[in-house]
Amino acid sequence: MGKHKAIIFDRDGTLIVDKIYLNDPDLIEYPDGVFEALQLLRDAGYVFAVATNQSGIPRGIVQPANLFETHRRIRNEFARHGVDFLDFYYAPYMTDTDHWMRKPNPGMLEVAAKNHDLALEQSWMVGDKMSDVEAGHRAGCKSAFLNTTNNPSHQDGWRDPEVVCDTLLEAAHLMLSQS
Ligand SMILES: [Mg+2]
Repeated sequence: MGKHKAIIFDRDGTLIVDKIYLNDPDLIEYPDGVFEALQLLRDAGYVFAVATNQSGIPRGIVQPANLFETHRRIRNEFARHGVDFLDFYYAPYMTDTDHWMRKPNPGMLEVAAKNHDLALEQSWMVGDKMSDVEAGHRAGCKSAFLNTTNNPSHQDGWRDPEVVCDTLLEAAHLMLSQS
């Protein structure tokens, strides 16, 4: 059983504005309230990681060097606000592979838990797609769903999120009230 309660964040549409296969680190844009949300959760004792599906890599739309630079900049910008990430996990697999590491599968969360001694049963997954919610549930976490983008992908048998809201800051308050 892990020691640290964590919040695993989706990247696009959650921590940064979704630019659809972002390949240019200069286009990173942060939604309102995102730093304040993570500061609140940090102060409540949570540690953080990112888990992002990146089918843009096998599609040839996203270059790995640009992905790494994007993650370096996101890490630095949050650090400037006093917020640290344990790791950035990405799944460079196509949509139809059903790869264990690709959300809705729990691979990235389980690897994060193993690498960083996380207590998944005390942790949350946060994202703007139902595949994020499902990945969290498959890993044994609670899940928060952000209504920031359209969400076509709910599937039969997937459980509803414990928290639904419009912004990450609102999600942070609700998660803290349910933790
Ligand atoms: Mg997303």
